[in-house]
Amino acid sequence: METPARLTVDVGRLREGEPERLRGTLEASLLEIDDLAQVRPDGPLAYDLEATLLPGGEVLVRGRLSLPCRCLCGRCGGEFRRVFAEEGYCETFAAGASAGLDLTESAREGIILVLPSYPICGEGCKGVCPTCGKNLNEGPCGCARGGENPWGALDGWAPQE
Ligand SMILES: [Zn+2]
Ligand SMILES: [Zn+2]
Repeated sequence: METPARLTVDVGRLREGEPERLRGTLEASLLEIDDLAQVRPDGPLAYDLEATLLPGGEVLVRGRLSLPCRCLCGRCGGEFRRVFAEEGYCETFAAGASAGLDLTESAREGIILVLPSYPICGEGCKGVCPTCGKNLNEGPCGCARGGENPWGALDGWAPQE
């Protein structure tokens, strides 16, 4: 199996005042974020960056990172897909970096910062009924006729003397 390509910059090729455009994708397996059960990569990370050699020899890299994900809603448990993006990725790498400056780890950290730990499928998500567990986005369940009252199911029930 081929090792997936990493995100690298050939620092030796950079010229001061001539930013180099870096566009491409990084295989999700390099991101090692499968353990976040609620949010899993659903495709490669896409990057569109610009690397600039600074007068002091540091390398400034900035731009956009995005990652399509498959999420489990924290409220209703439903699965949904969403693309999360870091629009303002910006990192400076120390001077004297070797020819192949590896940005993979930095890009990984950059995208992880924008992944929610409690994803919600939508602002209007109604969640699940606390009594019967039905996903209320699919319609009312019938046991909450009393509105917010969680004991609505017991209405009309009276002990027999
Ligand atoms: Zn939901
Ligand atoms: Zn219910």
